[in-house]
Amino acid sequence: MAGVYVHIPFCKKACTYCDFHFSTTFEAYREELILALLKEIVSRKAYLQEEVVETIYFGGGTPSLLTQGELTRILVAIQANFNCAPDMEVTLEANPDDIEQNMMTQWKTAGINRLSIGVQSFDDNDLKWMNRAHTSEESIRSIELAKQQGFLVTIDLIYGLPNVSNEEWKINLTKAVDLGLDHISAYCLTVEENTVLDVWTKKGKIARVPEEQQADQFDVLLDFLENQGYEQYEISNFARNNKYAKHNTNYWRGKTYIGIGPSAHSFNGEKRAWNVSNNQRYIKALQSGASCLEEEVLTPQDRFNELLMTGLRTKWGVNLLELERILPLEKAFIAYIDAAVNNLELIRDRNQIILTKKGRLRADKIARDLFVV
Ligand code: SF4
Repeated sequence: MAGVYVHIPFCKKACTYCDFHFSTTFEAYREELILALLKEIVSRKAYLQEEVVETIYFGGGTPSLLTQGELTRILVAIQANFNCAPDMEVTLEANPDDIEQNMMTQWKTAGINRLSIGVQSFDDNDLKWMNRAHTSEESIRSIELAKQQGFLVTIDLIYGLPNVSNEEWKINLTKAVDLGLDHISAYCLTVEENTVLDVWTKKGKIARVPEEQQADQFDVLLDFLENQGYEQYEISNFARNNKYAKHNTNYWRGKTYIGIGPSAHSFNGEKRAWNVSNNQRYIKALQSGASCLEEEVLTPQDRFNELLMTGLRTKWGVNLLELERILPLEKAFIAYIDAAVNNLELIRDRNQIILTKKGRLRADKIARDLFVV
């Protein structure tokens, strides 16, 4: 079981908080970039060996800026070079302002069956502050349209914004739930280096949001969505009717994936690899047949910590026997687990350890405490 991730490094404009790899001036080399992606797919066809590809994910950047022709060329290349299952989950990240009736027909024809819509907030003031390219009204219309067209739909929301109260955050969540979504991802705002937000913070234009305030909104998120029948199956991801995101779930469960495109990461259980985060260098390397891929071999310690971290963030937890196959479990490790079980932060079911709701509130800290260093 494996996944293919394709990074589309184009955006209409830069959101204030974003540190993903993208460019807002891409039209001059758009076709060259597509050709480079196609070349990379062919040149790395052996990476997944004969593993069956069950998911394809177009992320970015803004993949909804691709035309049907561009999407089709990429999907045809993936299917020609990898062993693809007939019923793959094929996700496209889409911004609300790109979602129109004719585009959706084209995406369907190309083979997309799931849309991950970058809503971020249903409040126009928040959207302006984030420099998003759409309005709340466009978000609502795009979700309704996508559902009518039969796509599986998920949205991204951001909490912990300055000047947004818990009540306002709840209003945002209410709007999301009222739209009848089966999947919602919610992320806490973080100030990443070299973003507009970082500059504003350093210049004192905005104050950092206190951690306690962000933790409060995480609490609101958990309670509210739980009451509405959503299951928190990963720290930032909530689903109803078992509509889990297959692609991301495979990441969290340590499955193999290949990343195509500038800045895209790949993982095969033993090595992690990543492409250069520069569009021109990526294109030039692919044109000349040179590599723009760096890789590192994961140590047993890396693999242990990664399995622990990603597993603990999910409702399925981590299997101690799987961890033990990588490194022996120290006495202090087991003692910490026992204490966390007594403290109602962890459940231990034979060899499976799973965070409770209380534990999920400090998931990163618990994982860090258990890391092998
Ligand atoms: S958040 Fe999305 S749309 Fe905004 S700049 Fe980042 S990648 Fe582009």
